[in-house]
Amino acid sequence: MATDYDAPRKSEEDIKEDSLEELKTRRTETRSAVVDEDEAEAADAYELPGADLSGEELLVRVLPAQSDEFTCASCFLVRHRSQIAAEKDGLLYCSDCAG
Ligand SMILES: [Zn+2]
Repeated sequence: MATDYDAPRKSEEDIKEDSLEELKTRRTETRSAVVDEDEAEAADAYELPGADLSGEELLVRVLPAQSDEFTCASCFLVRHRSQIAAEKDGLLYCSDCAG
């Protein structure tokens, strides 16, 4: 009887120990996973502004002129519309190139 009574108790203790170890392992895994997610979110937060800035730089370079600016058809410099000195065939020329 004694051996039969001790046998299940030992197995129960083993199960409790195993479950405790599993809980500890799961807690550690959960903590590490949360840290990784935070680091990933932080990395994304740092990467997004840089991507937006590069896009804005590309947009500025692609746009030939703003509404109050024009691109000279001779020197291709973007100048203010007040500097338009001549217009030929729809092409605008700055004061430096018109003369
Ligand atoms: Zn010009």
